Amino acid sequence: ESLTVIELSKKIGREPAEIIKKLFLLGVMSTINQVLDKDAIELICADYGVEVEEEIKIDITDLDVFFESAEGNPEDSEERPPVVTIMGHVDHGKTTLLDSIRNTKVTAGEAGGITQHIGAYQVVVENGKKITFLDTPGHAAFTTMRARGAKVTDVTILVVAADDGVMPQTVEAINHAKAAEVPIIVAVNKMDKPSANPDKVMQELTEHGLVSEAWGGETIFVPISALTGDGIDNLLEMVLLVSEVAELKANPKRLAIGSVIEAQLDKGKGSVATLLVQDGTLRVGDPIVVGHSFGRVRAMINDLGRRVKEAGPSTPVEITGLNEVPKAGDRFVVFEDEKTARQVGESRASEAQVNQRSEKTRVTLDNLFDQMKQGEMKELNIIVKADVQGTVEAMASSLMKIEVEGVNVRIIHTGAGAITESDISLAAASNAIVIGFNVRPDLNAKRAAEEDGVDIRLHKIIYKVIEEIEFAMKGLLDPEY
Ligand code: GDP
Repeated sequence: ESLTVIELSKKIGREPAEIIKKLFLLGVMSTINQVLDKDAIELICADYGVEVEEEIKIDITDLDVFFESAEGNPEDSEERPPVVTIMGHVDHGKTTLLDSIRNTKVTAGEAGGITQHIGAYQVVVENGKKITFLDTPGHAAFTTMRARGAKVTDVTILVVAADDGVMPQTVEAINHAKAAEVPIIVAVNKMDKPSANPDKVMQELTEHGLVSEAWGGETIFVPISALTGDGIDNLLEMVLLVSEVAELKANPKRLAIGSVIEAQLDKGKGSVATLLVQDGTLRVGDPIVVGHSFGRVRAMINDLGRRVKEAGPSTPVEITGLNEVPKAGDRFVVFEDEKTARQVGESRASEAQVNQRSEKTRVTLDNLFDQMKQGEMKELNIIVKADVQGTVEAMASSLMKIEVEGVNVRIIHTGAGAITESDISLAAASNAIVIGFNVRPDLNAKRAAEEDGVDIRLHKIIYKVIEEIEFAMKGLLDPEY
């Protein structure tokens, strides 16, 4: 509701000095940093003949403002299909499962369709209900998208091979899903193998907080064979069950908003992006802002390679018509008119050039205390990596005991071994710091941490770690130079 002279000058594109002069003539003494009230702003704007009602209220470079603005009649909201990501250790059968689901279900519904890999697909289950699957398995893609602000996944299927059990990436996947607060369904895969041992899987997952319903817990376990197709119908039923509990809703009557699943430059078609509609209905011709790009939706094709005119909630479509290539995890917003879309798109593009670095301020031990003081931090998220499992556990439990001024330490992931890119992306997505004990980041992790502004702290003595965190929380840390 209030702006400083300088802020107002930027919004209406006039020199601050000119505004100060006008204010003076209107009998208001001001300086460049003077906070103007609503009346003063309206006076100035009326004087310039600027229609500013909305312009002064919203920062048009912040797409989230549009993204989150509720629109349309709440009574129009309807149940929407769940969006599912498949995660798990390498070779446990994620790709086989994705292919198997798509082959049995997609073609059954739409005869003659030729599957088109656009990064996501939708299947129709027995009772006519739909489920959307993200086609890139694994937690790396999931967390990269989340780090950019996209929250698209409603349910995670954790694939664990029954002949292999819980492996390091299984644990990573669990922690990535937990950090995103996405419910997990466990698919115990490769049940066709003679060496399958589902009890062992259940036992091992108990240690990571996933206790089967059969054992009095709350996690759904479904035995399957991605190879033969056994148990997949049951798995899909369970996905629908979990999403019913979550009461997923969307309003097909509003203008579309959503996220980018993937995007690339095509020689003939220009910028091609797969969008997941998260609310509203996307139509050909819609003026749209996608990340830092904008345009009009020229053509849309669905996951069967068919041209479509509209796409409702939870539907993935590939679109053309953008002026640039957006990134996976970017948000998109449809606007009423092309002029506004262009305005928002252009200011976002120029804003992006100015601050190339990540948009959010990530937590570091140096800015932690300030963030705590401003009441922005209730929890300090930490990822712990160490050379051996015993040390990891010892450190995690000591860290969890720290509590300063009502701010808790929360360990979101631990592991033995070097700090990897996956650790960094999880840290970036969850606003966490990474502690390495007797381990170092590998090259990719180092580069990613620099790009994303993730704070890595390396130590060799346990009490030093604890001390450093405590000092940081109390604002006693000497700044690092
Ligand atoms: P991903 O790395 O998790 O995507 O695993 P893949 O889907 O590529 O599967 C790895 C290997 O396991 C492949 O050789 C698959 O054929 C095999 N596989 C996957 N699911 C099953 C299953 O249910 N039973 C058996 N016997 N093999 C499977």
